[in-house]
Amino acid sequence: MSSVALITGASRGIGRGIALELAVLGWDLVINYARNGEAAAKTASECEAIALAHGRKIRAAHCRADVSVGEDREALVRFTQETFGHIEMLVNNAGVAPAVRTDLLEISEESFDRLMSINVKGPLFLTQAVARWMIETPTETPRAIVTVSSTSARTVSLDRGEYCVSKAALSMLTPLFAARLAGHGINTYELRPGIIATDMTSGVKEKYDRLIEGGLTPIQRWGTPGDVGKAVAAIAQNLLPYSTGETLNIDGGFHIRRL
Ligand code: NAP
Repeated sequence: MSSVALITGASRGIGRGIALELAVLGWDLVINYARNGEAAAKTASECEAIALAHGRKIRAAHCRADVSVGEDREALVRFTQETFGHIEMLVNNAGVAPAVRTDLLEISEESFDRLMSINVKGPLFLTQAVARWMIETPTETPRAIVTVSSTSARTVSLDRGEYCVSKAALSMLTPLFAARLAGHGINTYELRPGIIATDMTSGVKEKYDRLIEGGLTPIQRWGTPGDVGKAVAAIAQNLLPYSTGETLNIDGGFHIRRL
């Protein structure tokens, strides 16, 4: 029986990169998205094709759900239950940046509420629902909750303070659930990507090109969705069995302080 992963925000970008790496390993997938059904369907068929190219037959199903909406989260879990009947990994990846980058002294409550709702409330309550389901269905198979936060959990950006606050809040989810779920054989991990080439960063490409060229990151290149996907693949292969509540920086060394 193949393992199953539910990946939020997997139609594009980092979530898609994670889905492709898990497909190579032969995992069945639920590809969640918010609006872009066409992209989600394409990602799902690409996953099935790449698995086949590696000699594995998988099923990748796609499901629309806004993670910030309670009924949508319930429907997403129900879809996963009805489609596959079990789950070995939840990847909380869906997240948004502010619609407009604004100085810290100008950010609006509306933008703050939107980011807290999608970036924090969504993953927290989806994790709660999936954790309950996992606990109700005990198994010897290792299981994991992976949450994609950001280097912004620790890095100040004065033109998107509400994003930094949301990612710092999200960071607490991993140690909390690690302590609660370890006894049920469920490990939790936080992934902190740095500068990754996706739609989210396409509008600031030139700025980041210049910063990377100037030596901002010790590994002097943009990160790719596949870089993040490979970290999830390591977790999926149970290569970190005695680590939980752990944070992995996937940022080319950006987090290193230098003098
Ligand atoms: P992206 O290219 O903008 O893709 C965002 C994905 O999330 C899409 O699949 C989108 O679905 C989905 N999504 C958005 N709002 C959603 C909602 N309310 N419910 C469910 N799905 C939703 O972003 P990305 O760069 O891949 O970022 C993925 C995650 O990594 C985010 O949490 C982001 O904060 C984090 N991150 C990104 C970077 C970076 O440099 N790119 C760095 C650090 C952390 P649709 O296609 O339907 O819109």
